[in-house]
Amino acid sequence: MIYQNTLAFAENLDVQDELSHFRNQFLIPQHNGEDSIYLCGNSLGLQPKSTEKYLGAQLNTWKDLAVEGWFQGDDPWLQFHHQLKPPLAALTGANPDEITVMNSLTVNLHLLLVSFYQPNNKRYKILMEGGAFPSDQYAIESQVSYHGFEPSKAIIEVFPREGEHTLRTQDIVSAIEQNAGELALVLFAGVNYYTGQLFDMEAIAKAGHKAGAYVGFDLAHSVGNVPLQLRNWDADFACWCSYKYMNSGPGGISGIFVHEKHFNSPDLKRFAGWWGYRSDKRFLMAQGFKPAHGAEGWQVSTSPILLLATHKAALDIFVKAGGLEKLRQKSILLTGYLEYLIHEINRGHGEELFTIITPSDPNIRGCQLSIVCKRNGKAIFNYLAENGVIGDWREPDVIRLSPVPLYNSFKDVYRAASYLDMSLAVSE
Ligand SMILES: *Cc1c(COP(=O)(O)O)cnc(C)c1O
Repeated sequence: MIYQNTLAFAENLDVQDELSHFRNQFLIPQHNGEDSIYLCGNSLGLQPKSTEKYLGAQLNTWKDLAVEGWFQGDDPWLQFHHQLKPPLAALTGANPDEITVMNSLTVNLHLLLVSFYQPNNKRYKILMEGGAFPSDQYAIESQVSYHGFEPSKAIIEVFPREGEHTLRTQDIVSAIEQNAGELALVLFAGVNYYTGQLFDMEAIAKAGHKAGAYVGFDLAHSVGNVPLQLRNWDADFACWCSYKYMNSGPGGISGIFVHEKHFNSPDLKRFAGWWGYRSDKRFLMAQGFKPAHGAEGWQVSTSPILLLATHKAALDIFVKAGGLEKLRQKSILLTGYLEYLIHEINRGHGEELFTIITPSDPNIRGCQLSIVCKRNGKAIFNYLAENGVIGDWREPDVIRLSPVPLYNSFKDVYRAASYLDMSLAVSE
């Protein structure tokens, strides 16, 4: 699309946007009596208006039925999580059986590492992207130490080349090949939280398997943001949170994917709990763990129904939007518009004041742009915040802005860029 740097152009794109009415289904934080420009869905997605209703329904069941809520009512709690599997399967490219929802993300990463990181003296290394989200780094480091290996020897991080901000697939693949004999696991993000780069998960899975390793993905910044084909890509496992692009509330429930080929694999260890027991026999309370079929066999604890309810409210909106296909088309235009406007600012000032480190190819990024400020980054960020533009700041000099196709408009993007431009005069 040929973009224009005018409010009228942005407003016209909003008129033509067939998804624009979804914005109405969200509660947008107010700033001086107006909608703020919320570009922080990469960190915490907005609250759907329907969330209160979905949550209220479960509070009523608790009030009216109390313990019988597990078995009675419109949505017996015992089965409630089943409703979440089809929409999540659609968003991740999985079979519903390969998905379940439980715990929170880092906890699930640990639980999946129990199964998929079983190092021995020959194969003990984990290869991951350099600059992964800190929680993942800590999880890996502690798992490696737990198994008695030295993190500095066992963890291989792949960094961008000198002078580059993002990773080349060929460099990831050759790092995997170089360590082939010693790799136990390849663990990558789908989309890196800092740069917004979308990795070639299919190529990573293929190379990892060729090297004899398991391959897993942390999809915290990916699910609800970019199209995924976990099954076709042959990922062994994946996990994600629901509170970023999936709008399911702060600290919302996490989800996992385990590829069908591992359902009955006897050499995969797991840390068990009663909620992972065969559901038909769970209440016999018998000795000896027998896992439920599919990803459910990794469940540990009683379902947190209130968190499942907020997740359901948010996922139903994705279903109404017809899944990710149209959302992704809009997302590409929306983020492309922000990118264009930032280039316009640089052009207007005759200087690259904002460097976008996110890939410029829309096929290898999602909603987010990560913008390095040449000067006065923190002052610029503060100016945006004072004017109701909500993004986030990552030390030392990066502003992350993520227009989200479900609730952001082209006008939001235009106005955010105007404030970014005006911030330059104020922050000098
Ligand atoms: C957001 C995020 C997390 C957060 O994990 P929690 O357990 O929900 O706190 C972990 N990893 C990645 C890659 C993330 O983007």
